[in-house]
Amino acid sequence: MNMKVVCPVCNRLFEAECTPYKVTYNEIVYYFDTEICQLAFMKEPERFVFNCQKKNE
Ligand SMILES: [Zn+2]
Repeated sequence: MNMKVVCPVCNRLFEAECTPYKVTYNEIVYYFDTEICQLAFMKEPERFVFNCQKKNE
């Protein structure tokens, strides 16, 4: 059940369950490893949405 996600801001791979930082944008949930990354995304979401990747293990 460990869903690995990539932070769209800094491209770090981490487990989605381990972070409280999530944003729903265009009906897609984005996960962030830190609050700083979440804030950067919320300022300019268009800049980061294309970096989003999901990896399921
Ligand atoms: Zn990050």
